[in-house]
Amino acid sequence: MQPIHIPDLLRKHEATTEIEFEEVLPDLETLMPIKGVVRIVHQGTYLDVSAQVSTIVTLTCDRCLQQYNDRVSITPQEPIWLDEQIGLEDFEDEREVSMEDLVESIDPQGYFEVDEWLYQQLCLALPHPKHCRPDCPGVEIKPTANGLVDARWSALQQLQGKLPSDS
Ligand SMILES: [Zn+2]
Repeated sequence: MQPIHIPDLLRKHEATTEIEFEEVLPDLETLMPIKGVVRIVHQGTYLDVSAQVSTIVTLTCDRCLQQYNDRVSITPQEPIWLDEQIGLEDFEDEREVSMEDLVESIDPQGYFEVDEWLYQQLCLALPHPKHCRPDCPGVEIKPTANGLVDARWSALQQLQGKLPSDS
């Protein structure tokens, strides 16, 4: 999706743009294109960004390491503050970084990267931890003929065989 030139937004009807999209993001593995609609309203000091997004993402299960698919359907809404003062120098001094500093802020003369924002929203919506199903048993340990489990078991059997039988 094309980045939105922020000053251009002000020239649109009600300073609003609404984009329907169907696309693939390079950094997010999805089974089908990401579909949705994003609406951006220029509110003077901030952009009011909202969207309806749905897709099926391909994830790797934390337990069994198998890939699985998960439907993601989100309706994020976020103010993106317009502030040309924001820059790296703000973080150079030793003062504590407050929550306010961490709020997203971009240059009012610059561009709003829709794809980047969508990617962030989708990543936030991904499940943590990732389990292919609630009762995933994890990595399956296949016992081998001379595997650890078998060795222990036979050692126990040997031990039991050596126990005095007069009890
Ligand atoms: Zn699993």
